[in-house]
Amino acid sequence: MVVGAGPVGLTAALALARRGIEVTVLERGTALAAESRASTFHPPTLEMLETLGVLKPLLDRGIVASTFQYRDRGGDEIATLDLGVLAADTRYPFRVQCEQSKLTPILLDALPGTARVRFGHEVHGVSMDGDGVVVHTARGPVIGDWVIGADGAHSAVRHALNARFDGSTYPERFLVASVDEDLAAALPGLAPINYVFDPAEWLVLLRTPEHWRVLLPTPADTPEDAELARLPQRLTAVADLGRPWRLLHSSLYTVHQRVADRFRIGRALLAGDAAHVNNPLGGMGMNSGIHDAVGLAEALAAVFDGGPETVLDAAADRRRTVAVEHVQRTSHANWERLRGHDNDFREHLRTLAADPAAARAYLRRACLIDSLEPQP
Ligand SMILES: Cc1cc2nc3c(=O)[nH]c(=O)nc-3n(C[C@H](O)[C@H](O)[C@H](O)COP(=O)(O)OP(=O)(O)OC[C@H]3O[C@@H](n4cnc5c(N)ncnc54)[C@H](O)[C@@H]3O)c2cc1C
Repeated sequence: MVVGAGPVGLTAALALARRGIEVTVLERGTALAAESRASTFHPPTLEMLETLGVLKPLLDRGIVASTFQYRDRGGDEIATLDLGVLAADTRYPFRVQCEQSKLTPILLDALPGTARVRFGHEVHGVSMDGDGVVVHTARGPVIGDWVIGADGAHSAVRHALNARFDGSTYPERFLVASVDEDLAAALPGLAPINYVFDPAEWLVLLRTPEHWRVLLPTPADTPEDAELARLPQRLTAVADLGRPWRLLHSSLYTVHQRVADRFRIGRALLAGDAAHVNNPLGGMGMNSGIHDAVGLAEALAAVFDGGPETVLDAAADRRRTVAVEHVQRTSHANWERLRGHDNDFREHLRTLAADPAAARAYLRRACLIDSLEPQP
């Protein structure tokens, strides 16, 4: 059983189904979530989606970003990094910009008949004996051999297992605005992905297939309606178009860095946001969650094939180590640098842009390639 039909739960279901394992996905919503959150797919994620047979429709709906850029708020480019230096590391030396809400229907459509998705099934408890798991939903119990909790940051599965979710909450919220403007024309030289440094107000500018998204820091404790009311002025300060920006949608998020203390508890596994949450800078949450789904599904398939359960422990431990040492560390460093005055880091970025070998080492980490390498 998989709890949650987000990008992580549906990837886990598809990976299991491709290995011939029967899967039931239990989803609280009556349909797939339409919310536009993650918008970047890193090279290893593209390779995994290719293996699952769902890359082509994603590429058809997304746009290829071969470069990303660091800028100063004053407008000057600091460095543009070209992902082409990863050509020896991946079949896809680029990022794909596409909303996660476009991936989930692709995954759902790809599920074979041995995988059922039950919408309107909110899970509120999990109990286990030696041979199986009972997942409790408002519509009654559902019984299976194993359960993967992929039910997001507030995971009911994680709560039911009494797993701890230690970490911290950021002292600022993140405001995400989708705009119907051609920012590349307003700010010449923009790449599809731009991290803009500023101690007073850092920001991120991201192309999505149809729009641009602007990510802005916002104080933790101001009223939401006041923040949304002053958004037009803040956008004009990013680029003065001589009129208000055409704003399509905006959301204010409280952002945490937290990791569950275990990713396997008996016959239950945790994956994606249910297992770890981080800030969105660098686009690592959904990507690393999809990597959890594929890694844990492979290990589970090995157990179904008669392998020892220690394979599953090793996979769960490995994914937890990646969450702590790679995803949390890199995303937090991204936040600190964006809001800092670190001139040495700016100089480092300029050096990277001029040195393909150094850029490759940096981008292997930024794009999560290193996080998947076998450990010594
Ligand atoms: C503004 C923003 C930008 C982001 N940008 C990026 C990015 O560019 N790249 C990136 O990698 N990540 C990004 N992220 C993070 C990314 O959105 C999450 O990591 C990703 O959605 C996690 O997927 P998931 O499937 O684990 O959880 P979710 O997407 O939260 O899906 C969980 C599913 O479980 C269901 N569910 C919840 N509770 C229950 C229950 N009790 N019973 C049954 N079903 C339940 C929900 O309805 C939902 O369908 C961003 C996040 C935000 C907020």
